[in-house]
Amino acid sequence: MLAAPDEQISLTDPDARSMATSGRGTGMVGYNVQTAADTRHHLIVAHEVMNAGHDRTQLSNMSRQTKEAIGTDALDVVADRGYFKGEEILACDAAGITSYLPRLQTSGNIAKGCFGKRDLLYIAKDDEYRCPAVERLIWRMTSEKNELVIHSYWSSSCQACALKSQCTTGKTCHALGA
Ligand code: SF4
Repeated sequence: MLAAPDEQISLTDPDARSMATSGRGTGMVGYNVQTAADTRHHLIVAHEVMNAGHDRTQLSNMSRQTKEAIGTDALDVVADRGYFKGEEILACDAAGITSYLPRLQTSGNIAKGCFGKRDLLYIAKDDEYRCPAVERLIWRMTSEKNELVIHSYWSSSCQACALKSQCTTGKTCHALGA
């Protein structure tokens, strides 16, 4: 086993590998099969078998393979949030591929069972958000962090709000738009 390049040997299936997944204790010995299907005919257009325990780095790889197999100049791809990664979306864009996929829910608030940005409604004509208490979060400031421009919005009604405990542990609830 130690002499193998990745220090793994599967006696029942030599190509299978131990793959760590995000859930604790959910790793398994097997494969990660990537397939891209044509949405009109439901035919598999491209596929690849790999041993990575996640899909985060596969959006541009599989999309490029699909584009080549179809022989098209432009391609729209739809994927689940397991494929969400900024660099991958950018690589698709550079290759003439438009990708549609949900953002990862990384909010600490949602993990605590509280409201997240998905519970806020953006009102474009006013550049404001409407929160679950039907209060308006207005634009307050713009800053920059890690090369991202961040717009901050908040409401002046948070202190007296009956929903505050479901919203924030801070003084006010901020909505951040990057
Ligand atoms: S705490 Fe503020 S942002 Fe949150 S629901 Fe209440 S008013 Fe809206």
